[in-house]
Amino acid sequence: MCGIFGYIGKNNAKEKLIEGLENLEYRGYDSSGVAIVQNGQIHIVKKAGKVCVLKDELLQSDLDGHCGIAHTRWATHGLPTELNAHPHTDSKNQLCLVHNGIIENYISLKKEFNLTTKTQSDTEVIAELIAKIKEKDNLEKIKKACSFLKGSYALAVIFENEPDAIYLAKKESPLMTTYGEDGIYISSDANAFKKYANNFYILKNNEFAKIKNNDIEFYNKNSKINKKLNNFEKTFSFENKNEFLMQDEIMQTPDALKETALFFENFKNLKNYFDNIDNIYLIGCGTAYHSCLLGKKYLEFLNIPIFSEIASEFRYSNVKPSKKSLCIFVSQSGETADTIACIKKCNCKTLAITNVPNSSITFNCKKTILMKAGWERAVASTKAYCCQLLVFYLIKCLLKNEKPKWKQLVSSCKKYLKKNNIKDISKKVLNFEKIMFIGRQEDYVTAMESSLKLKEISYINCIACPSGELKHGTLALVDENTLVVLISTKSSLHNKNLLSKQEIEARKGCCFVASNIINSEIELPNLNSDLMPIMSILPFQLLACEVCISKGYNPDKPRNLSKSVTVE
Ligand code: GLU
Repeated sequence: MCGIFGYIGKNNAKEKLIEGLENLEYRGYDSSGVAIVQNGQIHIVKKAGKVCVLKDELLQSDLDGHCGIAHTRWATHGLPTELNAHPHTDSKNQLCLVHNGIIENYISLKKEFNLTTKTQSDTEVIAELIAKIKEKDNLEKIKKACSFLKGSYALAVIFENEPDAIYLAKKESPLMTTYGEDGIYISSDANAFKKYANNFYILKNNEFAKIKNNDIEFYNKNSKINKKLNNFEKTFSFENKNEFLMQDEIMQTPDALKETALFFENFKNLKNYFDNIDNIYLIGCGTAYHSCLLGKKYLEFLNIPIFSEIASEFRYSNVKPSKKSLCIFVSQSGETADTIACIKKCNCKTLAITNVPNSSITFNCKKTILMKAGWERAVASTKAYCCQLLVFYLIKCLLKNEKPKWKQLVSSCKKYLKKNNIKDISKKVLNFEKIMFIGRQEDYVTAMESSLKLKEISYINCIACPSGELKHGTLALVDENTLVVLISTKSSLHNKNLLSKQEIEARKGCCFVASNIINSEIELPNLNSDLMPIMSILPFQLLACEVCISKGYNPDKPRNLSKSVTVE
C-alpha cells in the first residue's frame, strides 16, 4: 500500500514525480505529496485527495529541480489530511522522507527518545528519530534509526545538508531502483519506471542505498554490497481502450489466460514437488482466498487433506503445517503482508502463485509459479483471479497427466466478452436494496467472489450464501427489495438450485439465474466443469464494473481500499 517514487537526473523532477505517482496511484490515493530540491533547498507540496489534486497544484507552481521524492498514501495511522500526507519532516527541517509500511513501536519510540510530533502519522517518528541520531554520516544516521524501528518500512530520505542525494532503506515493504536513460529512478513497483530502464535493482530486507552523483551504492547493516540486476519480464502487450483500467483488465482476460497457460510449460518440473506430502494448505486473502477455495476443489482428487486458509487468520492460528505439508501461497502482487507472514510459520515445502516476478513472496517461498496476467492496476482483481484458477487447473492436469483444454476456455471467454447482456442486467440490479449471490460447490465460490467484487467497487451491501443454506437463516432477509442471483452450472445440482429459486420467489424476492443449463437471465457458455469457474466469474466482474460506473464511482479506485496490501 502506498506508492513511493523518486528521481535524480538531468530532467525535470516535477514531471517525473507526477508521472510516477500516476502510475503508482493504484497503491493508495487518499493524499499525496512531493519534496523537490530547488537551488539546494527542499520544497514540499502535499495535498489531501487523489493525485490529480496534487498534480494541479504542482503544474501551477514554478517549482523546478532535478531531485525529488514523492508519495501517494493509503493511511494506516491518522486521517488522510494534508498534514498527515507524506513527505514528513523532523521539527528542525533537517530532512524529509516518504514511507510505506507501519512502525509498530512508534508510540514507545516517542517516549523513549522524547520525540515530539505534529501529525498523527507513525511515519513522522522516523523523521524525528533520524534527526536525533548523533552519527555525522547520513547513511549511518538512517542505519542506526532503522535499528530501533519495529514493523515494516520502505523509506526514501533527503537531507537538508546533502540535498543532491537520496537515501533508501527497506524492511518488508517493496522498494526498487534503477539507472534509467536520463537519471536514477526509485519506485515501489518497477513497472512505474519501466519506460525508462531495461533492468532494475530490488532492495532486500535490511538493505540501504545511497544515490548521489549519478551512482547507486548499496549497503547492508555492516558494509557496502554488490547487487544483481533484475530484468523486466516480458509480458503480452495490451492497449488501454476503455475509460477505466478495470474494464480494460477484464477484456484482457483471454490474453492473460493464454499467456499464463503457455508460460506454465516452464513449471512442469514442479510435478515432483507434490510427491511425499501428507496434506496441502492453500493460503491467501480476499480474491486470492477465493482462488484457494477453488484450488482445493481442483486438488481434491489427490485424496489427502486440503485446507484453504485466510492468511490474516492463519498467521495467528495455533495450527502449524507439518514437515510433510505443502503450503501454497496465492497473491496477485506477491507483496500481501498477511500472506507473507504465514510463510514464516511453515517449515515445509512452500510454493508461491503470483503475478509479479521478484516480489517478496517469491523470495520467501521455495518454489514459484508465475502467472502472466500482465500488470493489474485496478484495485479489484479480475484477470489475475482467472489466471490463479487456471494455474490450479493446470496443476491438476499436470498431476493427472491430462492434456489441459485451456484453448477452449480462452475462446469461450473471448466470445462471452464480445457479446453479453450485462449492461441490461446492471440497470435492473440498481433497483434493489439488497443483493445475494447463491450457488453450490464451485458456484458458491463464484458467488462469494461475485459478491466481493460488487461490494468493493459499488458499495452495495451484498452477501453470498450456499443455495442449500438459505433456509437455515439467510432466507429471513428476502423480501420484495431483494435480488438473489443464483449461479447454477452443474447439471447434477440444477434441480436443487431451482428449489431455492422457488423459495425466494415465494417470499417476493426477485431471482436471476446465471446458467449454461437452462435459458436464463445470464446465459453462460458450455464448458467442462473444471473450466467453468474460470469463465463464470466474468459476468459478475462486468456486472460490478457496470453498476459501479452507473452509480458514478470510479471502479479503479474504490473508497477505503488499495491494491497490494503491504501492511497488516
Ligand atoms: N503508516 C504510514 C501512514 O499512515 C504509511 C502508510 C502506507 O504505507 O500506506 O502514513
